[in-house]
Formats: sequence, C-alpha cells, structure tokens
Amino acid sequence: MPGLHYRNVVLGGGAMGLAATYHLARRGEPVLLVEQFALGHDRGSSHGAARIIRHSYADERYARLMPRAFDAWRELEAEAGRPLYIRTGGLSLSPPGVDYVARVAASLEAIGCPHRRMSGEELSRTNPSFIVPDDLDVVFEPDAGLILADRALAVQIELARSVGGMRTHIWENSAVLRIDLNADRPTLVFRDRTVTAERLIVAAGPWIGRHFPEYAARLRPERQQILYFLPSNPTPFSIGHLPVFIYKGPGPRDAYYGMPDVSEGGVKVARHGGDPVDPDADDRGIGVMYRDEIRDFLSGVLPDLTHARIMRTEICKYTVADNEDFLVDFHPVRRDVLLASPCSGHGFKFSCLIGRVLADLATIGRTDINIEGWRLK
Ligand SMILES: Cc1cc2nc3c(=O)[nH]c(=O)nc-3n(C[C@H](O)[C@H](O)[C@H](O)COP(=O)(O)OP(=O)(O)OC[C@H]3O[C@@H](n4cnc5c(N)ncnc54)[C@H](O)[C@@H]3O)c2cc1C
Repeated sequence: MPGLHYRNVVLGGGAMGLAATYHLARRGEPVLLVEQFALGHDRGSSHGAARIIRHSYADERYARLMPRAFDAWRELEAEAGRPLYIRTGGLSLSPPGVDYVARVAASLEAIGCPHRRMSGEELSRTNPSFIVPDDLDVVFEPDAGLILADRALAVQIELARSVGGMRTHIWENSAVLRIDLNADRPTLVFRDRTVTAERLIVAAGPWIGRHFPEYAARLRPERQQILYFLPSNPTPFSIGHLPVFIYKGPGPRDAYYGMPDVSEGGVKVARHGGDPVDPDADDRGIGVMYRDEIRDFLSGVLPDLTHARIMRTEICKYTVADNEDFLVDFHPVRRDVLLASPCSGHGFKFSCLIGRVLADLATIGRTDINIEGWRLK
C-alpha cells in the first residue's frame, strides 16, 4: 500500500480539528487534515448556523477561561475580516431549590463579568416574551451571544488554505480505517494508502471511541434533537429582542436552551442531553413525544412560541465526558499523539482557543492555557 509522510496530521474536520489546522497553518507548520465526509457535513457535532457563547458557567473553571476564548474569536474575526460573534445577551434560569443560577452568578462575580441577578417577576416585566413564575431565579449576562458556527468553520478552512498555501493539505471523504500506534511513527491506515505523521491530533468527535476503545466508556456519544420554531410574530424572537437562554431544573434531563432566529432559520430550542447513539447512525426523525416535551417547556417560559410551527429540525451529536468536562491531552504512552474531545455539549465556544492549545501542544509541547482539568487521569 502506498505510504505518505506528513509533519502534522489532524484527524477530524469538525470545530476542533479545523481550529487546530488553522492554528498550525498560521504558524507556518505543514498540515494535513483528513475528514471522512465532505467538510461542512451534518453527521457530527459542529454543523448549524450558531452556537451559544457565554461567560455564564456554573463551573467557575470554564467561566475563567471564557475571556481567553472571546479573545480567540476576536482575533479570528480580525484575521477573517468578518464578524463571527453576535452579542444578544444571555439569560440563565432556574426554579427555586435549584442552585444553578446562584452558581452562575457567583462565577460571573468571581471573574468580574458584568451581570444582573433578577427574579422571574422582573424578567416577565422587562422582556414581555418571557412569562415565567415570579420566583424563578434569573441572571442576565449582556456579553453572552452567538458564534456563527458554519461561518466560523468556513473562515478557518479558507484561512488555513490561504496562509498555509502549498503546506496545507485537506483530504475530504477520506475515512481513516485504523490508527496504528505500534509503528515508529503514528500511522493512519486508509482504504488505499497509509500516512505516517510526526505529530497526530485526533479530533474525531463522537467517533473517538472507535479509535481509542479504552476511552469509549468515558466519551459517550449522545443524540441531540433540535427544533426550529416559526412564530407568527417573529420580531420578539429576533436578534436584538430575544437573548440566548439556558434553563436548568431539578432533574438531570431538565435542561433546555434556545436562541433567537439567525438568518430566518427559525428560533432554535432543544433539550440539553439525549440518548446514547452509535456515531454512524443517521436517523433524522424526531418523535411527537420530544416535540411535546419542548412545547411543554416553552409554555412555562416563552408561551407565544408554544404553538408556533416547527419549520425544520436538526440532529446533532454530543460526546459527553464525566462531569461534562473536556478531554485534551497527549496519549498516555506517546507524546506524538494528542487526543482532543472537547465537547460535552458546550465545546464550540472554546474551539478557536482549543485549536491554539492543540497547536501549542503539538509544536512546543506545552500551553499557557490551564488545561489541567482536561487531562487524562
Ligand atoms: C446540538 C448541539 C448544540 C450545541 N450547542 C453548543 C453551544 O450552544 N455552545 C457551545 O459552546 N457548544 C455547543 N455544542 C458543542 C459543540 O458543537 C461541540 O463541542 C463541537 O462541535 C465538537 O466538535 P468536534 O470537532 O470535537 O466534533 P465533530 O464536529 O463531530 O468533528 C469530528 C470530525 O471527525 C471526523 N471523523 C471521525 N472519525 C473519522 C475517521 N475515522 N476518519 C476521518 N474523519 C473522521 C467526523 O466526520 C467529524 O467531522 C453543541 C453541540 C451540539 C451537537
């Protein structure tokens, strides 16, 4: 079988692999990106118009990293000459007896991020789209908003190609069948060729357990179902009117989020968390029970959306680690292999920063970003 050799190989063309490719190319490093489908496909975790970005984290470790993540997006925007972030403001909501909002507010306070704590009664009064129980606990973060996800991926591909020139190689529709870590160099086995790498970054998203079965139990793919609503009066649900929002109730599955309409694609609402899924499964169906569950949630928060038409749906996959953490680390026995599985349903906002971290680790073996919590234990 013909064999090729590359200095840096990135496996996976989702948010993490593309960001790593862009950051390597930006440093003048030669890089090969391999993706099993066409770039921009909708079978993994990174497709769709937008993702929420916020400092509002109940876990202060993530809140502390957010200023660096915002900086990374600003730098990318400057380099691309196009906006990628839309400031919509963001609401965190929880009912009495759930300490989610209290913890988010404490994190925001700790990092000095502007915010305003309020009651449900005040929210309903100040933003008439929300009709919520008076005793709901609410915190508003004005800097929260959206990252234009599809556009962010596209500009990183464009920039990796333009700054890298002949040193950037991108292979689409090229599935890696197997990774051989017993050879001198990490070796990717394709159907018709092999590729050896001086450094390999594996950013395979929900498929990571296929290549590293020893971590499959700790990195669990979940199926996410997303509904896009078309309200009869779209104005209150448009950018500038509706902030992004996250609701956490008492149960582990009692977690929902939504965002304003981006480019007339509908108002996105979903439950955070889903059932385990085979990453190769491609079932696009969304049942009546789930649709009713979301409408039921909306009836207690954004009642005008409850009976709105669902104009389209989307399926996406989370790769969930314990404690909803990320995994970014060297392979335990090979410093020339990096594993990158930063998802747990909240990784996109960090992806540009994580691309930089991966480029740091691959090229100089260390990073100034605190990733201790993401290491293999
Ligand atoms: C519905 C949904 C909503 C989300 N909302 C938010 C949000 O609001 N805010 C936020 O910050 N984050 C959010 N996230 C999380 C975020 O989108 C993910 O953390 C991020 O997209 C993960 O990217 P990834 O590159 O790790 O995975 P993927 O995007 O899945 O990329 C992995 C890539 O590897 C490729 N691959 C796998 N195996 C092979 C192989 N053998 N050969 C070649 N290629 C291979 C796959 O085809 C895929 O393209 C959300 C995720 C989902 C699904």
